[in-house]
Amino acid sequence: MSLADGREIVYFDLDDSRPDRLVPDLRDLAPTTTSSEIRYDVLTDEWVAIASHRQSRTHLPPTDECPLCPSRNGRQTEVPAPDYDVAVFENRFPSFSSPTSSAGTSGSNPVVVEPHGLSGRAPGVGRCEVVCFTSDHDTPISQLPPEHVRLVVDAWADRTERLGELPHVEQVFCFENRGEEIGVTLGHPHGQIYAYPFVTPRTKQLLEAARRHRERTWRSLVADVIASELADGSRVVHESEHWVAFVPSAARWPVEVHLYPRRQVPDIPALSGEERDDFARAYLHVLQAMDNLYDTPLPYISAWHQAPVRTDRELAYLGLQVFSVRRAANKLKYLAGSESGMGVFVNDVTPEQIAAQLREAATA
Ligand SMILES: [Zn+2]
Repeated sequence: MSLADGREIVYFDLDDSRPDRLVPDLRDLAPTTTSSEIRYDVLTDEWVAIASHRQSRTHLPPTDECPLCPSRNGRQTEVPAPDYDVAVFENRFPSFSSPTSSAGTSGSNPVVVEPHGLSGRAPGVGRCEVVCFTSDHDTPISQLPPEHVRLVVDAWADRTERLGELPHVEQVFCFENRGEEIGVTLGHPHGQIYAYPFVTPRTKQLLEAARRHRERTWRSLVADVIASELADGSRVVHESEHWVAFVPSAARWPVEVHLYPRRQVPDIPALSGEERDDFARAYLHVLQAMDNLYDTPLPYISAWHQAPVRTDRELAYLGLQVFSVRRAANKLKYLAGSESGMGVFVNDVTPEQIAAQLREAATA
């Protein structure tokens, strides 16, 4: 299915009997014009995306103008169907866009991989998608039933596979930003997917550490860390048949939890059905504990670490990192001088302390 301006939309259903999936998008939408490009920072060996068209994107509309609610009562939104379980569509204000759907990059070549000289520029090819977790505007993912969260996992898996098939995509990143405190511009429960035309710096860093450990020990670094956390126990927040959740011993954020499957897999599509079901329960457990910490729902970033599409598939270990800027009931942590200037995090909360609080909050 396509939206009025040609962007793709995909529905994921809890049962297959949904009759309303072919509802056309009746809006009169101009094709998206994106001007995204990536620039190479020779000083740090990293890419930066420059996407000036995003300045005009919708910012916190009132609930009755929400573009992610289904189209009902004559009001047309980004989702043409009158109801849905999970819906995924291409972002109208993408940081990266595919050469075929974007006027800004159409006809140009894919990414120039090797920068030359003291700078490098390439079209910001890739893809950005919005994942609507539910049609219910007021139910965050932490309050959805496990089978609905499992459907979200299936949507992530499907999109990871489909986007990984695009020729210019090197890495697929599924994530959720929640809370105005961290700059969320739409209140409807949703996540995003970025398909990058390069392997991200964070992933490169994790893979290099894993590679060094493997060369030294012939073992998996993440598997060894999981075993050591389970043996120690002081930072473990939750254990289930297939998943383990703990606060990392060098947590950067005042609230930070990592979830790993007990079996090493490169990405979400490689998870078995049982592992996906069990993840839904484990994730809900962690999110609800986080929400119970303070009187208000915790603002957080939830970030999936998946293997690159083409490289280091056997080295990577799938994991989800959830973290929050809230350091006390009424205080936020800002990335100030040391963090933003030097990349050195200063955490005011000990990881053991926050793990104990989360274990307690889970039973509250
Ligand atoms: Zn909504």
